[in-house]
Amino acid sequence: MPEAKHSPAYEAKNAWTIYKSDEDRAKMKAFVDGYIDFLSACKTERETVAFAEKTLRGHGFSDDPASGRYLAKLRGKCLFAFRRGTEPLSKGISLVAAHGDCPRLDWKQHPFVEQAGFAQAKTHYYGGLRKYQWLSRPLALHGVIVKDTGETVPVRIGDEPGDPVFCIADLLPHLAQKQVTQSVREAFEGEKLNVILGSIPRQEDEAQDKDGDKDGKAKDPLAATPVKGAVLDLLQEKYGVCEEDFITAEIEVVPAASASYVGFDRSLVGGYGQDDRICVYTALQALCDARADCTKNIALMIWDKEEIGSDGATGASSRFLQYCFEDVARAHEPDTPASHVLLASQALSADVTAGMDPDYQDAHEKSNAASLGNGPCFEKYTGSGGKYGASEAHAEFYASVRGILNRAGIPWQAGELGRVDHGGGGTVALFLAAYGMNVVDFGPPLLAMHSPFELSSAADVWACYLAYKAFYES
Ligand code: MN
Ligand code: MN
Repeated sequence: MPEAKHSPAYEAKNAWTIYKSDEDRAKMKAFVDGYIDFLSACKTERETVAFAEKTLRGHGFSDDPASGRYLAKLRGKCLFAFRRGTEPLSKGISLVAAHGDCPRLDWKQHPFVEQAGFAQAKTHYYGGLRKYQWLSRPLALHGVIVKDTGETVPVRIGDEPGDPVFCIADLLPHLAQKQVTQSVREAFEGEKLNVILGSIPRQEDEAQDKDGDKDGKAKDPLAATPVKGAVLDLLQEKYGVCEEDFITAEIEVVPAASASYVGFDRSLVGGYGQDDRICVYTALQALCDARADCTKNIALMIWDKEEIGSDGATGASSRFLQYCFEDVARAHEPDTPASHVLLASQALSADVTAGMDPDYQDAHEKSNAASLGNGPCFEKYTGSGGKYGASEAHAEFYASVRGILNRAGIPWQAGELGRVDHGGGGTVALFLAAYGMNVVDFGPPLLAMHSPFELSSAADVWACYLAYKAFYES
């Protein structure tokens, strides 16, 4: 009889029972401390890509596709990084692909309104979010204003000590009696997600001076909205920008404040944007730390626009990844067509999944639900309602990645996003699968996904880093 490698029954292992030595816990803490700092600092796709670029350049990555460490960006919002292995490129690239964009509220083109003595910014939400979670909580503004001269003014206010924050006021319970009987969809309207910017009216003489016409003949367009006028004055003073500049600006409203450990035992990480910056950070560090003599050619892709369906130039449905593969193939192995490299490649679609929520256990099917603390989770397929919109991993490839993790002693689990017919979601996996490459979804489970304060397990963050590194080093 062959030697039994596995017990007959399968049971997911808790990562805390694997990483239990003082040494392992210290390494985990150092890594997760860095992750918490990253989450606190990077709240937009641009900030995430800038962080990744800086980290990669610090590890010797350059703009030269012929170098052993290459990086390419598009519009500052998506990034590809490549490390040459000892294997020929015709054997493919081991790719980890994550996304750096997160649900948020974006300012509209004409954001400024004044209502009942408040200057407010109108928003249009980005991605799937529960609107009420954004009410009555401190918010920050991150983004860029580009003037018609081409000058870019970075915006980042609400996250530094001493900064003011912003807020969307919720209705007081005393007057919400009608609202509490409505459906959540009816009770919280997108058009009421207006961010309070200020409440001091412009002084009359200021308005006249700006107008430069004290005889009252010329009409001051801001006369009827003195609070909005005062906010625009402040913005002109602080940033040198005018109302028209906001038509073309990218201003993202994100939760203010830092990420932190959660719980008496500090076992969890709470913070905004863990979907999917948890995979961005762990894969980025894994790419940088993978041993120098890797056999495999390895790469990282950070995409944008995943939360709104991956469309757009910087999203996974664009040709950017293909062009990067073409540049790499041309530089290193001109006789191998990029299409062959793509077909021979293997990818982890690095994205989060839903962890078993202790208070909403019936949203999950327990035998196929992921648990926080049991390591990063495979999803053989995503999609919903009969696997529509899914890319499904092939058994041969899926098993090979399982083998890599087992041989490295890294905890992992396998799950599904939720109960069949209860909803679902997609990832970038199908856009990678479109090239014919092998791909499987693999990333840590979260609680409160898409909320302003998502929760992950610190042990899963650490295990996920080790898993991506093992995939690269296999
Ligand atoms: Mn995601
Ligand atoms: Mn998401």
